[in-house]
Amino acid sequence: MIAHVITIGTELLIGDTVNTNATWIGLLLTERGLKCEKVITIGDEPDQIIDALDQSLKQANLTIMTGGLGPTHDDITKKCLASYFGVKMKRHEPTLQYIQDSFKKRNITFSRSNYGQADILENCDVMPNKAGTAPGMWFPGHNLAVLPGVPSEMKYLMKHEVAPRIKSTFPKLAGSYTRYFQLTGIGESTLSDLNLKEVSDYLNDQVDLAFLPHTSGITLRITSRAKNRDEAKKRVRPFEDHIRRKAGEFIYSEEKDEELNLVVGRLLTENNRTLVTAESCTGGFVANYITDVDGSSSYFNGGILAYSNAMKIKLLGVSENILKKYGAVSKPVALQMAKAAAKNHDSDISISTTGIAGPGGGTASKPVGTVWVGYWSKGDHFAVKLDLNKGRMLNKERTAIIALDIIRRKLNGIENLPYGLQPEFP
Ligand code: ATP
Ligand code: MG
Repeated sequence: MIAHVITIGTELLIGDTVNTNATWIGLLLTERGLKCEKVITIGDEPDQIIDALDQSLKQANLTIMTGGLGPTHDDITKKCLASYFGVKMKRHEPTLQYIQDSFKKRNITFSRSNYGQADILENCDVMPNKAGTAPGMWFPGHNLAVLPGVPSEMKYLMKHEVAPRIKSTFPKLAGSYTRYFQLTGIGESTLSDLNLKEVSDYLNDQVDLAFLPHTSGITLRITSRAKNRDEAKKRVRPFEDHIRRKAGEFIYSEEKDEELNLVVGRLLTENNRTLVTAESCTGGFVANYITDVDGSSSYFNGGILAYSNAMKIKLLGVSENILKKYGAVSKPVALQMAKAAAKNHDSDISISTTGIAGPGGGTASKPVGTVWVGYWSKGDHFAVKLDLNKGRMLNKERTAIIALDIIRRKLNGIENLPYGLQPEFP
């Protein structure tokens, strides 16, 4: 069963308002077993509204429309519906009563334009809006729901009025199942071209895969549909195994919203290890991520932020000669920082960062984005060189994520480093 979503409002097109209605409705429809095939976003323009409506009613089994039901001059959805269906509007007395009562309770004057909010189309069922004033409308013959644009009102009506109608209109609707894999330490194209290149064998009308990149990595979302949820779940199992087999080392979580810092914290706890950080170019970003997790004090001893050479010498005992000879952004300095932090502060694991975040400060041999990350734990001491060359903020964030991922891999006994980085030893 195909669904379309039409979101109306010029503010959505010009970048004033993020179209959160579309994503929220898309998720709800998917969870209910519909295939949300299209989201159409248009301005407050009658021709556009009528075109979109005509297209969706012809192509989709269910259409959800939001926006433009209010009392202001730009709220024209109802007029468009009346002209499209060739029906009149009528005043819905219970809605009028409800709006007047709620205005009275809130001590708001009821103005002339508010009457319009109680006007509905002749051919619809009213869906009372307890979260606001303008009611929703359901057009039974067309499987069309028309809802206010205000997100809280739209959500109320989707949950309490539209979802039950979807159930009774499509009683045999299939079940759906959504699964997430969180990956890091690999680029999107490498993942799709190399590791997961045979995924098309597993994809079909019932099984979708989405690559959702973000600053910490890539989320893979698999959605499957079948006659019920259990079937849908069973259907994707071979696909899940394939992903684990081909990209296992990159998966840090199989939970939708679980972040890398939480996973690292859990691994440190399980392995009974303590951590210390020695940061320069990340300015405390690594420590910040670590301490975003509740309870991190049980495994995180603290961090040293040694930004200047003087602080690197004073707080971490980095040798002045080495700083002079190799510069602060170098393998020996990253190695010394990591080792000194662990030794001086009695920690099992230590991670260090030193680099050129940019935009200034780069040279021919050390361009912006050159970063060294050092690692020390008993019997394991190395540094890796990153060539990031992003903006300043991204260089800091990426470095911090890679630092966390190195710790995750080490605690999981994974030999490889993120992005195929090669360890360089003292
Ligand atoms: P009301 O009856 O409250 O006037 P309405 O149906 O007229 O509702 P709009 O005037 O289109 O709705 O929008 C009301 C508010 O909801 C605006 O702040 C608008 O930016 C926001 N909004 C509208 N559509 C969306 C959307 N698709 N996603 C997120 N916010 C939206
Ligand atoms: Mg509007």
